[in-house]
Amino acid sequence: MGVPTLGCDCPVCHSTDPRDRRLRPSILLRWSDPAERTAQHPSGVQTSEQTGEHCVLIDTGPDFREQALACDLRTLDAVLYTHSHADHILGLDDLRPLSYLHQDRTGEPIPLFVSAETRAVMEHVFSYTFSQASTYSHRARVALREIGTGVTVGHLRFQPIRLLHGALEIVGWRFGPVAYLTDVSDIPEASFEQLHGLDTLVLSALRHKPHPSHATVAQAVLWAQRIGARQTWLTHISHDLGHQQTNQMLPSGIELAWDGLTLELDLDAHPIRQAE
Ligand SMILES: [Zn+2]
Ligand SMILES: [Zn+2]
Repeated sequence: MGVPTLGCDCPVCHSTDPRDRRLRPSILLRWSDPAERTAQHPSGVQTSEQTGEHCVLIDTGPDFREQALACDLRTLDAVLYTHSHADHILGLDDLRPLSYLHQDRTGEPIPLFVSAETRAVMEHVFSYTFSQASTYSHRARVALREIGTGVTVGHLRFQPIRLLHGALEIVGWRFGPVAYLTDVSDIPEASFEQLHGLDTLVLSALRHKPHPSHATVAQAVLWAQRIGARQTWLTHISHDLGHQQTNQMLPSGIELAWDGLTLELDLDAHPIRQAE
């Protein structure tokens, strides 16, 4: 719902701590592929493919535009989606300007990697973007793509991780030694198998009180300890959790994330690369 939450007068919604101001969850990953793999295009024009600079976004919530302005986002190679709920997809239309730049540069729409469930909702909600019958000329230049067994951008592989969000099956993403698992209410055993050897885990924890489709802080801490990443950042946090007081009770290595948090990651620590 975002914090402050509309109509709420609780202490967290009135907090002056900037870390208690929370837009809807999303992450942006920027990286460079190893230099020896890059090459300059003969025309002298460098595209992201040739420079080896890449940028992938996970989810476009209703706050996407503000978040993109805050981090000066100018190019995107792809968007990966976790599921179809409003707080994860409603910023899709704000991809329009970046999609026009992307099309000028590459001749292609921005690929959006979605599950069958997310595709069905997006085609419905954004029918003016995706419908063949739409006559809307300034639609986003984006294309829905299947996740399949995973997604490769540059030389980095993104593996889908099956998760439960209440009754809904959703997608978490692992890339190298990092995983982003949001809106989780349960992690199937087979998915734990894909989470060995993590350095960094981003995991959702809504509040202390049980919720049918989100984990509590206590449950998230148990999963984080089982997965055993060097660092775990909790995200998708409701106004029930004040930043400072919640952090004080968390075990070391587990912390609440905040808007604008930037992490330097060693994606080559345990690389999962596609065979070439
Ligand atoms: Zn959700
Ligand atoms: Zn959500």
